[in-house]
Amino acid sequence: MKLKAFHKLSYGLYLVASEYKGKKAGYIANTTFQVTSEPEQLAISCHKKNQTTQVILDSGIFSVSVLKKEVNMKIIGDFGFMSSNDIDKFSGINSIIAKTGAPIVLDSSVAWFDCKVVKSVDLGSHYLIIGEVLDSDEVSDEEPLTYQYYREKYKMYSPKNSPTYIEKSLLDAEPATPSHAIKEEEPEHEHIFDGESYVCVICGFTYNPEEGDPSMGIAPGTPFEDLPEDYKCPICNASKEYFKAV
Ligand code: FE
Repeated sequence: MKLKAFHKLSYGLYLVASEYKGKKAGYIANTTFQVTSEPEQLAISCHKKNQTTQVILDSGIFSVSVLKKEVNMKIIGDFGFMSSNDIDKFSGINSIIAKTGAPIVLDSSVAWFDCKVVKSVDLGSHYLIIGEVLDSDEVSDEEPLTYQYYREKYKMYSPKNSPTYIEKSLLDAEPATPSHAIKEEEPEHEHIFDGESYVCVICGFTYNPEEGDPSMGIAPGTPFEDLPEDYKCPICNASKEYFKAV
């Protein structure tokens, strides 16, 4: 089996949210897809250890927000890498309450769906949850985020609880992907900087000194050691001590 084949599957990125007895929960999902049109039904695959999964099963409702291409990374960090038990993910977030009672996140979203659970299937590590869409709306005409764009821009892999998680060391051990494109002679790049890259052990974000971190005002060519002491991971907000050299 070739694990890299799984990276050829295309996905979007979504924020799935629910609420039960006043407890709001939400997480970032790539496995959200429409499974029927009459009636309109969406399926989501949720890890059993996700707080949101139990909230969805208890309440029987969930919302799906379709994230925009230039997503606010604080939303990815809070909803994708933190637990609803540890922080209030909805604090300071623009959200509304759906017909079903599920919270819907509007920030960084281009559209949303409000769903009632009609079925759940136990898949071992995950539940496949199918919901009938009771309401939906468009929020903006901006481009939706794709998983491939996110992966390439932020050099990120799926977190452990994701249905599409693959151990990075296994991926790296596979032979290189054959290229069918005719390779042109690559021009010699001027070598700007030769420092080490550092990876955030919480979320997997890689700080590449050659690129810097323009989102945090860090110029290209800045070595990791020269980052300000209060530098934080742009994805999960972890401080510098959570970074390891790679
Ligand atoms: Fe991080």
